[in-house]
Amino acid sequence: MPDLAYVNGEIMPIERAVVPIEDRGYQFGDGVYEFVASYEGRPFMLEEHLDRLERSMRELAFDPISRADIRKAVLDMFTLSGYPRAGIYIQITRGVAPRNHAITPGMTSQIVMTIRPVKEVPAEKRKKGATAITVQDTRWGRCDIKTIQLLSNSLAKQKSLDAGCDDAIFVSDQGIVREGTSSNLFIVSGGRLTTHPLTDNILPGITRKVVMSLCTDVNLDVQESFFGTDALLAADEVFLTGTVTELLPMVRIDKKSIGHGEVGPVTRRLYDLLRKKAMAGGGTT
Ligand code: PMP
Repeated sequence: MPDLAYVNGEIMPIERAVVPIEDRGYQFGDGVYEFVASYEGRPFMLEEHLDRLERSMRELAFDPISRADIRKAVLDMFTLSGYPRAGIYIQITRGVAPRNHAITPGMTSQIVMTIRPVKEVPAEKRKKGATAITVQDTRWGRCDIKTIQLLSNSLAKQKSLDAGCDDAIFVSDQGIVREGTSSNLFIVSGGRLTTHPLTDNILPGITRKVVMSLCTDVNLDVQESFFGTDALLAADEVFLTGTVTELLPMVRIDKKSIGHGEVGPVTRRLYDLLRKKAMAGGGTT
């Protein structure tokens, strides 16, 4: 099977999929999304992703859509694609109407999906660790909603690549370390893990939640609290978490080595636990 697309109930090769130019997602970024990955053909944490998708839609007052229909479409796409390690992108926009800032009543939500093999983080990066720059967080005030408005994320990612690094870490005006451009962030200091609390300023990552529960399982001390760039750069270990990122060590940030500048033991252990959980099946926390 080729890479597939789903457009409002119809599945087709990606090249054939089109949407109307007056879709509010296209003109206003008025849409939400999810990205779910499979391991050995089984989607990982699907129900958590559907929960978050429904929450994003509720927060933006979209008309509700049948969860069962979305779940069925997602599972059909995974089965039809036949890829054992696939990533499905699910996007729901408010609908199509002549361009108007005010929301036209009676629109029908537009649902599109695409499925392709997951673009894995290179093995070398996992082994040796990745690098980042910090950037000012210029995103809007509701980063907890997974909207398709990703311009700040995209520009920050590109800035990091132009600087010869792998990613960018958003830092607030007050110097609080928030998250990566498509991942959450943890630091390890003196054996204790810390990550930004769930507020309007970060995405409630599914991988973040899984990693926190793994920490509890193996008696690693994990806390949600605010920390600044000083604590980030002074940490023994830093890692990012995300559906595609999984759990990625960061060994250099703003040209400064983190810890010994190599992948640390807590990061390695949690990565192994995460992979084990993912490979064991699509379970929920
Ligand atoms: N933060 C941001 C800004 C993201 O885009 C993502 C990826 N969706 C994450 C965190 C990680 O979320 P998850 O673990 O659910 O993929």
